[in-house]
Amino acid sequence: ASAEPLIRVRGLRTLRGRREILHGIDLNVAAGEFVAIVGANGAGKTTLLQSIAGVVPVARGQVLLDGIDVARSDPRELSRRIGFVFQNPEHQFIAHTVFDELAHGLRRQRLAENEVRERAFDVLRRFDLDGKADVHPFLLSGGQKRRLSVGTALVAGAPVLALDEPTFGQDRARADELMDLLEGLSADGTTILVVTHDMQLVTEHAHRTIIIGDGRVVADAATAAVFADDALVRAAGLRQP
Ligand code: ATP
Repeated sequence: ASAEPLIRVRGLRTLRGRREILHGIDLNVAAGEFVAIVGANGAGKTTLLQSIAGVVPVARGQVLLDGIDVARSDPRELSRRIGFVFQNPEHQFIAHTVFDELAHGLRRQRLAENEVRERAFDVLRRFDLDGKADVHPFLLSGGQKRRLSVGTALVAGAPVLALDEPTFGQDRARADELMDLLEGLSADGTTILVVTHDMQLVTEHAHRTIIIGDGRVVADAATAAVFADDALVRAAGLRQP
């Protein structure tokens, strides 16, 4: 069964209100792949990511995560299968302190409390949030909020991570650091899907690139192959890094 793709998307159509945004998407992602999803503003990248993670309902077609239909999974079960980082980090904050935000995901894994503390503080250090443990998440700066939202998704330990603009508002060094971290996770078998507008990050870190144009897949290949086709990249409203 290891030859079976971990994510299988077939004939996916998704609406926002009454408007169809995705017009039939087909794609497969294998375990441990690091895939960038790019495209012009409004192309449907966020909608695709949210459809895969079961955040928005699928109107037609199917998303299978490890063989299980996302539309039929209950949300709690789904959150163990796929971690989601929203474009707006505040959309995922549920706790009153930064520490509890991280601890929540760890406690759900039924870890002992000392282990919860150890792992949560490890993430705080890694994401340069030490000293913020007792602060309300909403009082963090924009960049800190985004790092907390990514850290929260990471600690939950799901086999798939879907991240919507995880480096937005971070400087180049921090953005590279995060992408390196994601690459490391992918090397260890975690499947990574990243939506970003930063083509430099894509070409330097993602193994595979999917271009979405007006709700359809217009390219899906190894990152180097996609960016070697300059006409394709420009037609999709993207710029070479
Ligand atoms: P961006 O790069 O600007 O974030 P995107 O490629 O991620 O864009 P989506 O956010 O998926 O694109 O949006 C696709 C289309 O769906 C856009 O036309 C957008 O206006 C519309 N849309 C997105 N969210 C909603 C919503 N909640 N209600 C109605 N329309 C929406």
